[in-house]
Parts: sequence; structure tokens; C-alpha cells
Amino acid sequence: MQTEQPIRIVIAGGGTAGWMAAAAFARFLDKRFHITLVESEAIGTVGVGEATIPQLRLFNASLGVDENQFIAATQASFKLAIEFVGWTRGGRYMHAFGDVGRENGLLAFQHSWLRGKAEGVAKPLAPYALNNAAALANRMQRGPARTAKLLPEMPYAFHFDAGLYARFLRGLAESGGVERVEGRIVTVERDGEGGDVTALRLDGEREVAGDLFLDCTGFHALLIGETLGAGFEAWSDLLPCDRAMAMPSERARDFTPYTRATAHGAGWQWRIPLQHRTGNGIVYSSAHLSDDEAAARLLAGLDEKPLDDPRPLRFTAGKRQSFWKHNVIALGLASGFLEPLESTSIHMIQSGIERILKLLPGRHVSQVQRDEYDRQTHLEYDRIRDFLVLHYWANDRDEPFWAERRAVVLPDSLRHKIELWRASGAIVRGEADLFSEVAWFQVLAGQGIAAAGYHPLADAPSREEIAEYLELIELLNAREVGQMQDHAAFVAQHCGGVAA
Ligand code: FAD
Repeated sequence: MQTEQPIRIVIAGGGTAGWMAAAAFARFLDKRFHITLVESEAIGTVGVGEATIPQLRLFNASLGVDENQFIAATQASFKLAIEFVGWTRGGRYMHAFGDVGRENGLLAFQHSWLRGKAEGVAKPLAPYALNNAAALANRMQRGPARTAKLLPEMPYAFHFDAGLYARFLRGLAESGGVERVEGRIVTVERDGEGGDVTALRLDGEREVAGDLFLDCTGFHALLIGETLGAGFEAWSDLLPCDRAMAMPSERARDFTPYTRATAHGAGWQWRIPLQHRTGNGIVYSSAHLSDDEAAARLLAGLDEKPLDDPRPLRFTAGKRQSFWKHNVIALGLASGFLEPLESTSIHMIQSGIERILKLLPGRHVSQVQRDEYDRQTHLEYDRIRDFLVLHYWANDRDEPFWAERRAVVLPDSLRHKIELWRASGAIVRGEADLFSEVAWFQVLAGQGIAAAGYHPLADAPSREEIAEYLELIELLNAREVGQMQDHAAFVAQHCGGVAA
């Protein structure tokens, strides 16, 4: 009996996207699949992408990764929240992972908080969110709450060195049987009849043939864009920032378990504390700020001594019109780009891999599989876009860049969300919305969008009862945070990291 040849999956590109896919395929696919990854050290990777969201823990766990080993290997720190500074005049607020307050039966917490505000007894959100309170106190813990059964576990994500993460995943993938080929892809061969990609031709007259191809070549989009001509839907009107400069600085004295996103006159600047250094970068609109001004602004905004020159990056916000064409699926930056304001790109790689595994074709791809993959990916992109646009639109800054942001025509999906909140304090989570109601609540409230009403059930308790309820939440959170360890000490003691 003739044994069937394995189905050949070829991953073009070895950045975060390529190695995440390779590690996942090695873990979940069996011997009927042969996985090859082609990358070029000479071309290199984008190399930024250091802040994540909690779902990454599920990805790592699914690969059987020991969390402490991962933290040590990638110089990671914990991330409980993102702090937004200066997005409204002089203001700051946090989008923290996890819950804010407690649901009260039917009633989402935002309604009790809005009632409390109307009664003059509610504070800004920070003390009502365990993650927010812990982040501001620079504290960390894992596992169940210590002081109160009523408190949830604290969700967390990581900041990590993207280059080290790709290396870590490469180790897993190669030990799981993935074949790595070093070389530059020179041309992409196609079947003359159906138009499917048949092979990648590399420098040195080599060829890697395959049945299914993943385009993980980053902004090059060599297969999906250059070869197959999948168009790009640009969102420059909604998200006009088109440049960034990244610059590492020394390890932060202030080793915070949160990312900071500070608005400036024509965009924003990030600060991400890692164990061995701090990641910094400025995101800006080239129509409003020159590269030299951006570099100067980035330097001026550093808390620590720089370790390198600024590294420029160019991009256009938007997405591919199709993410799966013929036998090529685009993953990572080849599929589109949304600026890292809410640290979503690596997560989108993760969810793309999950979708691919669920819809994995055998030797033949059917159009309905492609269509379903596209449908889900478009929705995911559109929802995240809406969330990012909200940050920009709801500002009250003076500069022309920010005035233009206030004047944009919002997508209907976002306008509806804002109107509903304004009228009633209600928040609806749409299909494929990565962000929970609580996440939307924190940004709507944090950006200063007032809600005129709240759910009528929030009127049931008396003013004193609402005040007591809010105080109780604050007290429970404060007591729990008081039991937690300093973030740097926690990393050093439990994760083999470096103490402050
Ligand atoms: P790349 O890293 O560019 O990798 C492309 C690969 O393709 C490389 O291995 C390259 O060698 C290979 N390649 C290209 N052409 C060829 C060829 N001809 N032959 C052979 N190989 C080739 N995401 C987050 O989740 N959080 C963040 O905080 C965050 N911050 C970001 C900040 C900025 C300024 C930018 C631009 C992105 C950020 N991202 C962030 C996104 C994140 O960096 C990317 O999603 C992630 O790195 C995935 O990149 P990639 O693997 O798709 O592409």
C-alpha cells in the first residue's frame, strides 16, 4: 500500500507571527502535516511588539509552556493595565484588565457607579478595579485573592522582549519537528491553471514547495499582497498615525506592572518596562510632525538613559481586503496593521492561528472556508479599530491633530455604541468584539464621555446604600492590594527575574 505524502504547510517569515504559528502547528498537528518555516536573517523582523493582553497566557499554556520559564527567557514583566496620560486635557486614567466593581444581580457595575456619581458619592474608577489599584501601587500577585472570597483572581498579561519570544517559540517549534530554512524568498511560483501558490523560490536556486502557505512576511506581504494582489483597505482617515520610532532605554527605576500611553501633540508615546531594559516608542502622524521633531520628542519623554538610536518604522493603518486567497493565509503584519494603543497585534496573530486550526483544509481548500475565515477576521479588525478610534475621537486637546480627530465621521458601529452609552449608560458587546463591556466602560468614562442616564434598577438602593456599596468595594480592593508583593520583588522571587 502506498503511504500518502504529508500535507505540506509552508510558513513564509519568522517574526512573531511565523514562529507563533510554527509552534502551534507543531503542538496541534500530527504527522500527516509537514511544517517548514522560511526566514531571512538578512531581512530581519520588525522586532517591536512588547505589550500583550491576558489571552496570551492561554496561548502559552496551550503550548505547555511553563510561565516562569517563559518570563525568564523573554525578560518579561507583568502587565495589569494600560495607563492613558494626557488624552483629555491634563487627565489620566487606566484601562485595567478584569472587572471594575461588582455586578449586582442584573445590574452591570457601571450603572451603580453612574448613580453614585449622580449622588456625588462615587470616585473616579481607579479604586473600584482591583487591577487598577494594584497597578498604581506597583503590586503583583497570582492566584486567588487572599483577603476576601468575594474578589476575583487578577487577570494579567506580560511585557516581553519580542525577539526573545520568537527565539523561545523557535526552540519549541523545532523540537516539535518544524523544519527551518534560512534564505531570502526571491520569487513565488504559482500553478498556471488554478493560480494557487506552489513553491517559494529562494536565493541559491533553492525551492520550498507546499500545499498551504502562511504569509508571515510582515509589511512585505510577499505572498498575499505582492503575488496574489489582495488589496489593502486603508483607515488613514480614522487612524492617521503612519510612523513610529522605537528606542530602548535603561531598566526603569519605576518598574510598573502596566504600559503607559502618553498622548502628545500629534500622536502618542509608549513606555513598557522589561527586566533588562525599558521599551519606548513614539507613534505619530507625519502630516503633523517631522521625523526630527518626533525623535526629539521621544528623547525628551524618556525617564531613563537611552540605549540605542531611535529606529524608524512606517505603516498605514488598515487591513487586507481578503486574508485568505487561493491557498495563502495572511497572518501578522502581512494581514494589516492597527497601532499598538491597546496591544492587540500579537493577540490577532493568536486568534488567527486558532481560526486556521479550526478551519484547517486538507489537500483542497473550499471557498466557503476562505469566506468564513475572512468574515471572522474582518469583524475582529473592525471592532478593534472602533475601540482605538474612540480614544482619539473623545479628546479635548487643543492641537490641530486632535481637533481633526474630534471632527472625523465615526463608523456607524462605534457611533451607535457611544450614543447608547450617552443615553442610558448601557454598553453592548458586538459579535467578535475582543473588548468586554468593562473595557469599553473604562475608556468611555476615562475619556470623559458623560452618560445622561443609567439603568432604573440602580435607583433601588438609597443614597447611603450606594455610598456604602462603593466604599466596600474600595476597601476590599485596598485590603487585597495591601497583601500583595512589590512587582519587582515578585518577579525576582517567583519568576527567576532581576530584583530592582
Ligand atoms: P515581522 O516581524 O516583520 O517578520 C517578518 C518575517 O518575514 C521576518 O522573519 C523576515 O525576515 C521575513 N521575510 C520578509 N521578507 C522575506 C523574504 N523576501 N524572504 C524571506 N523572509 C522574509 N504588537 C503587540 O501585540 N503589542 C505591541 O506593543 C506592539 N507594538 C508595536 C509597535 C510598532 C511600532 C509596530 C510597527 C508594531 C507593534 N506591534 C505590537 C505589532 C507586532 O510587532 C507584530 O504584530 C509582530 O511583531 C508580528 O510581526 P510579523 O511576524 O508579522 O512581521
